Amino acid sequence: MLPIQTQSSSSLSQLHFPNPITSFSTFILLPSTPPSQPITRKRAPVTSNSIRMGVTSSSSSKWWWQRALGQRFNGEGAASFLRVAAAEPHLALPHISVPDIRSVDWPALRRLGFRGVIFDKDNTLTAPYSLALWPSLSSSLRQCRSAFPPIGIAVFSNSAGLKQYDPDGAEAEALEEAIGGIHVIRHEVKKPAGTAEDIERYFSCPASHLIMVGDRIFTDVVYGNRHGFLTILTEPLSLSEEPFIVKQVRKLERLLVNTWSRQGIQPPKHALVSEAKKCVKVSPLKD
Ligand SMILES: [Mg+2]
Repeated sequence: MLPIQTQSSSSLSQLHFPNPITSFSTFILLPSTPPSQPITRKRAPVTSNSIRMGVTSSSSSKWWWQRALGQRFNGEGAASFLRVAAAEPHLALPHISVPDIRSVDWPALRRLGFRGVIFDKDNTLTAPYSLALWPSLSSSLRQCRSAFPPIGIAVFSNSAGLKQYDPDGAEAEALEEAIGGIHVIRHEVKKPAGTAEDIERYFSCPASHLIMVGDRIFTDVVYGNRHGFLTILTEPLSLSEEPFIVKQVRKLERLLVNTWSRQGIQPPKHALVSEAKKCVKVSPLKD
C-alpha cells in the first residue's frame, strides 16, 4: 500500500532538504531563460509514438535545456514565489497530497459536487517532455474520466498547449492523441500567472467546481488555490531528466510547505470539501 499524505500530515518532511538560504538565492538569481519570441525550429513530426519532445534528432541540446529551464523559471514564477512566501503561504498548501493520481478517489470527489478535473502534464501524467502517459496511471485516468462525464477532464500545461512553446498547437494535438482524446487547453500565460478564464470557459463552470492536479507547489498548487480550485499535489513521476537546480528548487518548495504546515497554516477553505482525507484511497493499487 502506498503511503497516503494529506495537507495536515507532517510526513512530507522526511526528505533530505538543501540549505534553504543557498537554494533560495540560486532560485532567485536564475536568468529568465525562455525566449521572448516563440521558438521556431526544424523538428521531426510529432506523433503519438514520438516520445521525447525536444530530443528528436533535429533538436539541439541547447534548445532542450533552454526549454527545460524556461518551462520552470520565469519572472512571474519568481515574483509569485516571493509574494507567496512573504504574505500568502496558505496558497502553497495543497488540499490533498498523494504519491500519484492512483490514490485519488475520483467518484468520491464527483459525489461532493465537483464537475471536472484539470491535470498538469509534465511529471503528473507523463514524464517530462514526453507524450506518453505514464503506464501505471492509465487505469486511474480512465476511472477519473468515467467519474466526470461528459466533459470530464482536461490538461493545462506549461509545455503542450502553451503558445510560447507550442505556437501551432502541434504538441497539444499529439498529446491529445496519445492520451485518448483528452483535451489540452490552449493558453497564452504560464501558470501560476494568468486567470482561470480559459479553463472555466472549457468546463462551463467556475473554478470552485473544478480540481487542479499537479506536481509543482509554486506552479500548480499556487495557481489552483489562487483561483479557487480544489488542489491535489502529486509526487513527480520521474526526476531523471530534470536539471539539478530544478531538483533543488523542488526540495526547497517541500521544505517551505512542510514548515508552514507544521506552523498550523492551512490551505484555503474549500466549500465542497471539509475533510480532504475522505477523497484519498486507502488501497490505491487494488483497482
Ligand atoms: Mg509538472
